[in-house]
Amino acid sequence: MVTKTHCFTAYIKKYAKYHRFVQDINSQPICLTASNLLVILKPPMMPTLSFERPVKKVKKMDVNFRYSKKNSYSFAVLSPLLPEAGFTDSPRNGVMIYSFTTLQAAKVFREVENAGTDSVFIAGGPHPSGVPEETLEYFDYVVLGEGEETLPELVRVLLQGGDPGNVKGIAYKKPGGEVVRTPERPHVNLDAYPCFDPQKLRAPIEISRGCPWGCRYCQTPRLFGREVRHRSVDSILRNAQHYNDLRFIASNAFAYGSDGIRPRFDKVEKLLSALHTLPDKKIFFGTFPSEVRPEFVTDESAELVRKYCTNNSLSLGAQSGSERILKEIRRGHTVEDSIAAVECCLEHELVPAVDFIFGFPTETEEDQEKSLDLVRWISKKGGTVRAHYLTPLPGTPYESAVPTDVSDKVRRELGKLALEGKLTGYWENTGNRKRRKSG
Ligand code: SF4
Repeated sequence: MVTKTHCFTAYIKKYAKYHRFVQDINSQPICLTASNLLVILKPPMMPTLSFERPVKKVKKMDVNFRYSKKNSYSFAVLSPLLPEAGFTDSPRNGVMIYSFTTLQAAKVFREVENAGTDSVFIAGGPHPSGVPEETLEYFDYVVLGEGEETLPELVRVLLQGGDPGNVKGIAYKKPGGEVVRTPERPHVNLDAYPCFDPQKLRAPIEISRGCPWGCRYCQTPRLFGREVRHRSVDSILRNAQHYNDLRFIASNAFAYGSDGIRPRFDKVEKLLSALHTLPDKKIFFGTFPSEVRPEFVTDESAELVRKYCTNNSLSLGAQSGSERILKEIRRGHTVEDSIAAVECCLEHELVPAVDFIFGFPTETEEDQEKSLDLVRWISKKGGTVRAHYLTPLPGTPYESAVPTDVSDKVRRELGKLALEGKLTGYWENTGNRKRRKSG
């Protein structure tokens, strides 16, 4: 018989390899959105032949979100949809709702395994959606993808003693251990749901969801879908009234209103000018917690930021200085695009804050040195750089990839730049990897 302990051991073995590399998923820029929201995974559909009642029924009426700082964006979105649910920092009897990334998975699994409570455990978020089979070794149900519709329906069904097998967009285990995925649920219309309940938990305003690009290391298009959906200006304005400083979630803020490939800066301006009319607001656009793609940085978009926004920097993802690597990871832009974006920022007196990822599977020392050259050039020009080390994320083509070591020479040079205050982030994959901060 396979016990939870067996599975946990197997999990640790399986992930030990890359937990050496993965320290902070949120530090991998483009995954921020995906790693903080319950999103739709489009898995290869498994045939759903029957809906036998799963193993547990709810005996207590309490419903709680297992809150941590790292899942606050998810729960900000979901808590208004389950007004009866509370927040807790440890398991309690009743329905327990978790959302977590791969980095947090081992700790969460340990907590659930040792909970000792009379609970039904529901998991959602990027890691459970990417690997529901593994998650179901610990949890009773996995919400696959966006939770806005699925989670409240699942909780209602559990509380009323209905058949969870009729809830679309979940995975669970039949009594015999077979994992069942119920049929997929369509993507939600962002306008139909609030971004947060200002009385409970807040999050930056999510203006867009989904991405048409297919960067091989990124969960976003696999989880949110390739069609970009946008929140309307009216809905954004309604949510904006609860903040003084306005920050936004999007995979590419400059793609607001567009298909994610061809910019619609007229729509970006419509949004920014409307926000600008709100009294006493500061608008931070194209910066944390979202960023922009290099080829969307143009005179027109930079001028919009200068005209309407408070931020004097723009966050953009270059990811590599090697043309070969950019092609291989399917970034869909060139090194030249990154250089042009940096120059455009500087011309418009915006500090470019540029992300790089090291450790792509076939990356050679030569590729890494090309990235290093670009990093040096950006720093010399007055930009800032954040380095990241590749995280092989579930549900992406790199799920099972083994990241490449950063060469000693490149590591040394990056370390020097960090000591000079020109570089922050992570780029080491050894056990003694350190976080470098600019001084
Ligand atoms: S552009 Fe690439 S990295 Fe950014 S969200 Fe889309 S797929 Fe992910």
